[in-house]
Amino acid sequence: PADGIRFKRVLLKVSGEALMGQRDYGLDPEVVNRVANEVKAVIELGVQVSLVIGGGNIFRGVKGAASGMERASADYIGMLATVMNALSMQSALERMGVATRVQSAIPMSSVCEPYIRRRAIRHMEKGRVVIFAAGTGNPFFTTDTAAALRASEMGCDALLKGTQVDGVYTADPKKVKDAERYERLGYLEVLSKDLQVMDASAISLARESRIPILVFSIHTPGAFAEVMQGRGKFTIIN
Ligand code: UDP
Repeated sequence: PADGIRFKRVLLKVSGEALMGQRDYGLDPEVVNRVANEVKAVIELGVQVSLVIGGGNIFRGVKGAASGMERASADYIGMLATVMNALSMQSALERMGVATRVQSAIPMSSVCEPYIRRRAIRHMEKGRVVIFAAGTGNPFFTTDTAAALRASEMGCDALLKGTQVDGVYTADPKKVKDAERYERLGYLEVLSKDLQVMDASAISLARESRIPILVFSIHTPGAFAEVMQGRGKFTIIN
């Protein structure tokens, strides 16, 4: 990596909703391009990058189950939604000249590669962005957990969570005016205070794997690259 870069290999988790822009469903191509640009800037710093993209902008299992569908079936639909998002991100990145590979936890051989741990590591070593699709491949999990799992498997130095705001706050900064941003939090503090950063299984897994979670705004231009250099605004959980 370039001078001043604190991480060699990272995984960025972006929720599906972050790619929705002002729409109430699906993808906003402009937002997808902006996020792709953020990733490109970090690749150019010499950092190895992998991505997990959620699917909540298209389908969420819990909601499907609430309307009468069997939970597992609804979750599979949710996982398929993440594949659509992964392919959209792949195409945005490749248009910018960034080499990518999509690996799906649910094999879909005519669409993308199946998830193969060692192969994913190899892609990253070659400077390719690996986009992990279909979550963990299991119902009853989330893409947050998938992100912590893949980051652990890849031996990432950090798990980045790109959110709508620039870190974790004492209260929702969009609603509470004097909400304050935490500079640092412990994993257990996040769990005991029930702070809505990532779900509890993701936090626990990151803790066990000793991977710091850095929460930052995915919508602030250049923020991802800044965080990689220890600059800008973010909350670190470690
Ligand atoms: N999902 C799943 N197993 C996984 C990952 C995801 O069953 O390992 C399903 C689940 O139904 C979830 C949906 O896929 O609601 C979309 O993922 P998520 O809600 O995590 O997306 P995000 O909120 O990040 O957009």
